[in-house]
Amino acid sequence: MSAHPKTPEIERPSIEDRLYANKYTDHEDSHLGVFEDETCLDCETYDCVSVCPANVWRNEGDEDGVPLIAYENCLECGSCRWACPYDNVIWENPPNGTGMTYRYG
Ligand code: SF4
Ligand code: SF4
Repeated sequence: MSAHPKTPEIERPSIEDRLYANKYTDHEDSHLGVFEDETCLDCETYDCVSVCPANVWRNEGDEDGVPLIAYENCLECGSCRWACPYDNVIWENPPNGTGMTYRYG
């Protein structure tokens, strides 16, 4: 029986390390938000929180029910906008020259 050569182990950077490699130019005003706070208060799914790959939306139990939004981490993927079952997410493109710059490779 012939032995297969082992696949060499490649050390891959963590998701967090990859995210830190991107650069965010702050426009000092959130391009994300919600239309109605009350809708979030009644929300049972918090899909905006679970779908976000960058931990921008955080359900930290605020009384108004609106998740905290760390917009500076936003990757501009648009997932939160489509995931909200109540169409309650305000999503705008950051102004020209601001927002996320990806580091490829
Ligand atoms: S934005 Fe949408 S998904 Fe997120 S808490 Fe509010 S209603 Fe729920
Ligand atoms: S656009 Fe993407 S990265 Fe930005 S907050 Fe929404 S889900 Fe998160």
